[in-house]
Amino acid sequence: MIYLDYQATTPVAPEVAAAMRPWIEDKFANPHSPSRWGREAAATIDVARQQVAGAIGLPGGSLAFTGSATEALNWAIKGTLERAGPERRRIVTLGTEHAAVLDSCAWLEGQGVEVTYLPVGSDGLVELETLRAAVDGQTALVAAMLVNNEIGVIQPVEEIARIAHAAGAMMLCDAVQALGRVDIPAGPDLVAVSAHKIHGPKGIGALWMRDCAEPAPLIHGGGQEQGLRSGTLSPALCVGFGEAARLARDSAQDDAAHVAGLWNAALKSLGPEWAINGSVDRRYQGNLNIRREGLDSARLLSDLRDICMSLGSACASGSGRPSHVLRAIGLSDRDARASIRLGFGRYTTEAELVDAIGRIDEAARAQERFAA
Ligand code: PLP
Repeated sequence: MIYLDYQATTPVAPEVAAAMRPWIEDKFANPHSPSRWGREAAATIDVARQQVAGAIGLPGGSLAFTGSATEALNWAIKGTLERAGPERRRIVTLGTEHAAVLDSCAWLEGQGVEVTYLPVGSDGLVELETLRAAVDGQTALVAAMLVNNEIGVIQPVEEIARIAHAAGAMMLCDAVQALGRVDIPAGPDLVAVSAHKIHGPKGIGALWMRDCAEPAPLIHGGGQEQGLRSGTLSPALCVGFGEAARLARDSAQDDAAHVAGLWNAALKSLGPEWAINGSVDRRYQGNLNIRREGLDSARLLSDLRDICMSLGSACASGSGRPSHVLRAIGLSDRDARASIRLGFGRYTTEAELVDAIGRIDEAARAQERFAA
């Protein structure tokens, strides 16, 4: 198998598995119990908390663990609207956000909140003037992703936060695909991240909150996480996330150089028949979303089952619907269906990437010969 689906999830780093093992095998204490074992688990979770906050890299604030980034985004959006006054019942977001943001907003629309979904250009980027015109004194929250999960483009989050703040609104940044890869700029009040996108375990995410920006709790119960997110924490998952974050920070330069090398090798291997979706310059280079005129990408995927790649987000891939992100950058249904997403990173070798691209190209040519 060749794994080229790093935006869907990433391989667990060996260091992460090793750090988690004692907390799965022997150390089973409840981290919220006052016993010595419990206190040891709680102290270990606090180290992990600092490691994740350190990888996010924003000053001050606090960080609460959640069950996923999906939960963190739901909490940030719904909890912020709950805290906002009756004069602020609007959300401004982008049409290219992850389903966790779009569907949370859609749910709030059912509760009477007004949501503006801004368009993006053919490069996948939002126009700041359009944003400025949409954000007003009734806006409670502006939500924008830093690195897009489908096409890898990098939104101008610092400027977006500035525009939100100028109108007295809060800014939420989905940094799930950015963590450890692209610096998270100063400005967001809330930042959602996920462990399994940075070589950590699945089933844990986190929400970083600027001081005094904490959303109202979504999950009630035992009052864990400073009363903001109830539920017993898993020391194993927290330790795994912490170690993944430490590694991401320590190896950020090496990872970036490796990914840049892979990107250059991929571009050299692709023939002129392939076009890149989204901005080529303002992007994370471990995401290569490409299309080829007339390609049946679903068939390509089934012809090459030993290459893990995808048609868009893992969620969209199962639905058979063309990706909302590719539609938002102006592709027709036909062009969206002629697109595939290759995602690579720390453990991808140049040889396997070039081999996979050669086989993808050959399978696409075979389709064309068959159609002719
Ligand atoms: N946001 C983005 C940009 C993502 O890529 C994902 C994962 O697909 C999520 C949010 C949701 O993360 P999780 O899998 O932790 O719920």
